[in-house]
Amino acid sequence: MAKKLFIKTYGCQMNVYDSARMADVLAPLGYAPVDSPSGADMIILNTCHIREKASEKVFSELGRLRRFKDERQAAGGRMLLAVAGCVAQAEGEEILKRAPHVDLVFGPQTYHRLPELVEQVTGSEARTRLSDTSFPTESKFDLLPEERAHGGGNQGPSVFLSVQEGCDKFCSFCVVPYTRGAEYSRPVADIMGEAERMVTAGAVEITLLGQNVNAYHGKAETGVPASTKTGAKTRAKTRAKTWGLGRLIRQLAEIDGLHRLRYTTSHPLDMDDELIAAHGDVPALMPFLHLPVQSGSDRVLSAMNRRHGADDYRRIVERLRAARPDIALSSDFIVGFPGETQQDFAATLSLVTDVGFAQAYSFKYSPRPGTPAANLPQVADAVKAERLAMLQQLLGAQQASFNEASVGRWLPVLLEREGRLPGQMAGRSPYMQAVHVKAPARLLGKLVEVRIDKAHPNSLSGQLEPTTRRDGMPARTVLDPPAQEASKTPSLSEGPA
Ligand code: SAM
Ligand code: SF4
Repeated sequence: MAKKLFIKTYGCQMNVYDSARMADVLAPLGYAPVDSPSGADMIILNTCHIREKASEKVFSELGRLRRFKDERQAAGGRMLLAVAGCVAQAEGEEILKRAPHVDLVFGPQTYHRLPELVEQVTGSEARTRLSDTSFPTESKFDLLPEERAHGGGNQGPSVFLSVQEGCDKFCSFCVVPYTRGAEYSRPVADIMGEAERMVTAGAVEITLLGQNVNAYHGKAETGVPASTKTGAKTRAKTRAKTWGLGRLIRQLAEIDGLHRLRYTTSHPLDMDDELIAAHGDVPALMPFLHLPVQSGSDRVLSAMNRRHGADDYRRIVERLRAARPDIALSSDFIVGFPGETQQDFAATLSLVTDVGFAQAYSFKYSPRPGTPAANLPQVADAVKAERLAMLQQLLGAQQASFNEASVGRWLPVLLEREGRLPGQMAGRSPYMQAVHVKAPARLLGKLVEVRIDKAHPNSLSGQLEPTTRRDGMPARTVLDPPAQEASKTPSLSEGPA
């Protein structure tokens, strides 16, 4: 019987991808993902350390999970409790000290070793507890097993694919370079293989992930034999070249059946010409970009070690819009960074007004232990709160007017999951807007055109084209089902919902 594995994922999409890969690594040991911690044989908390009291939240969740472990023990069984991710990396052994019921702590770069770690923890009579937060010289990507089509949490029409990890930029507020380690790009061939398998398993949209995804510079075997003289002998070699993200996206867009590509998260410094050009001429690359700017003040940007100014950001946006006029932009903002004055904050509001964002995330600065900015004199919390409220009001108004402008338009929507209401499906527009529509469940995974009727603060709702084609699909279906499937599709006698 399969052992039950419950993984709780916090934070970014990269953690969602990692959690699915942890499930893949543990599958040969007989573990299968479940949706509840009750009765689990192993629980993994895959944690995030980016902001506010992250460690404390993990310790209190560990306190709540103790009950499940005790229940298992009382029933004569054993549950393993593990902490993974960036809090594990930052706290390491401290977690074992403070939470005696935790068995295993491992960081984002060591989860390919899970089978050995689990073996060590379970293999002896005496209780063994372990922490492995090293940065191994080997890349985990070279050692992970092939992903399984139904690995926990990263399956379906829209999936994540990690292409790059770590960061060498060392922004003065950020823990990522310390928890995820140095920048690493996966080779092109590995990424192509994984993307092709994802499409075969039903993916229609892939979001390429990296802490700094547009810094991607992966090795590509060109397959062009080159002659290299070694002494008297001449031997053929395959030339290895490095590709940037723009080139990789062009190659991925060639995969049959892959209709949508996105990437996140990007740094303005790495928006090179090739990537900007790809936005103009790769139709599968969606017209939406999350490009964090953090602040509109040059003084603050310099103190953050961002290495670009506010006008550089404005120019990048201009070039992106020249390449793809309808591109929708999103960003991250930090308010109340140490030393931020009212004037600096006004510069952020003015950048937001100039650019116009379709959506954005904004945060109060949170001092992260071990980062340079944590030691600087801090802005009062009340000031941070006031600035955050002002910024969010402006961003919210921009998002609302962007959504309003969609009303009355037909938008292609990839139906990704059931909606909250019965008979409803939910998906995303090309511009990342959540769209709800009444539709039969068999349209899951299809790209359909939806006429947008209403804009809500964070989403849109609309209707399918009422007329149907001979195969029963709504007349405005972007993705045709494969020919042999189409003939089996029952007719939509009830008409579209
Ligand atoms: N690599 C991306 C970039 O260069 O902008 C950002 C990745 S970071 C994981 C996600 C976001 O968390 C950042 O853009 C920033 O706005 C926010 N963030 C990171 N550290 C923070 C801190 N100490 N306080 C508040 N927000 C923070
Ligand atoms: Fe963190 Fe992004 Fe800066 Fe890297 S570039 S240090 S991930 S904010």
